[in-house]
Amino acid sequence: MASSGMTRRGFGAALGAVAGAALVDLGTAPRAARASHESGEPSDLVELNSNENPYGPSAAAREAMTRSQAVAGRYPDAAVDEVARALAKAHGVPPEQVLLGCGSGDILRMADGAFLAPGRKVVVAEPTFEAVLAYNRVTKAEPVKVPLDASFRHDLPRMAAACDATTGLVYVCNPNNPTGTIVTGDELAAFLSRVSPSVTVLVDEAYFHFVENPSYRSAFDLLGAHPNLIVIRTFSKIYGMAGMRLGYAVAAKDKIEALARYASFSNTNAAVLAAALASLADADLVPRTRRRMNDTRRWLVGQLAADGRRFIPSEANFLMIETGRDVAPLIGEFKKHKVLVGRRFPSMPTWLRVSIGTPEEMVAFVAALRAIVPARAAA
Ligand code: PMP
Repeated sequence: MASSGMTRRGFGAALGAVAGAALVDLGTAPRAARASHESGEPSDLVELNSNENPYGPSAAAREAMTRSQAVAGRYPDAAVDEVARALAKAHGVPPEQVLLGCGSGDILRMADGAFLAPGRKVVVAEPTFEAVLAYNRVTKAEPVKVPLDASFRHDLPRMAAACDATTGLVYVCNPNNPTGTIVTGDELAAFLSRVSPSVTVLVDEAYFHFVENPSYRSAFDLLGAHPNLIVIRTFSKIYGMAGMRLGYAVAAKDKIEALARYASFSNTNAAVLAAALASLADADLVPRTRRRMNDTRRWLVGQLAADGRRFIPSEANFLMIETGRDVAPLIGEFKKHKVLVGRRFPSMPTWLRVSIGTPEEMVAFVAALRAIVPARAAA
């Protein structure tokens, strides 16, 4: 890697230095070409700031995107139906219970439009992924922010207690961005039983595929019992297609219809739809990527533990590290080392969020971290 001079062999040596570190599968797949968010130009920056998948789309998805040029002159309606059918089959629901969006963030925008308005309330954790509150600057409901509990997890009992007759939407991000923490299947089921059916509950499972904790359960299992539930997923994370923009919602038909009123026409494109079908057909893609990225996260955790640093155990492709000081200037320091790290979260100002990149990228990150925040300073 350009910024650290670290080779695969160097990474192996670094790995070996940590007693008991799980061996990371270095893999052979090409890394996603880097294009800086800021300039759009290919860059030599290590981009660990947006929880992307460093490997990008699978080979089959790339081929499908290339082939899709042949149909690029036509609206992709047939492909939309085909992808909705494939997702419906995968989740065991009829296609009318599936809605596609230009990324799952697009579905969050639709949810705000459909379920919020001035005089209504939206209940979210603090901190969590901010799109729901960002779009609510237009819908103008009253935000109710419920702090995470002492283990940085959604405090579902307090979130349930925060709901009343004016609550239009509750957003549960599971795993949560930025903390990487989960709520268990039992906790989610208890929460849904407690919240009034008049309140729409949206569970965002953008990082579902990375979870290994056996107490976790997808909210899909609860859809049948709770018609007020919407579950969303994305092709941006495990499928490596953040730049292509595809996400979806699954819910009862009337919730899908309510969301769809706020969807723009043809909100997906021929290339991403073809890539999604190719990705869904590749049964090994998810387990392969999960293993590779979670092994890299475990290696990072080993490094942080060896340094004696405080961090939040994560079930996702990012984690938070306590730096002992405000991260705002640190983010600039990392950039000088050609490493981009996550933004500052105002309610956790001393915690740095870093995404899991390739093994080489994480070696560069750890080297920069040790230079910028020596372990004893973070303690
Ligand atoms: N949900 C969560 C929890 C996220 O972190 C993100 C993006 N980082 C999104 C939704 C939106 O992703 P996309 O629009 O690419 O599907």
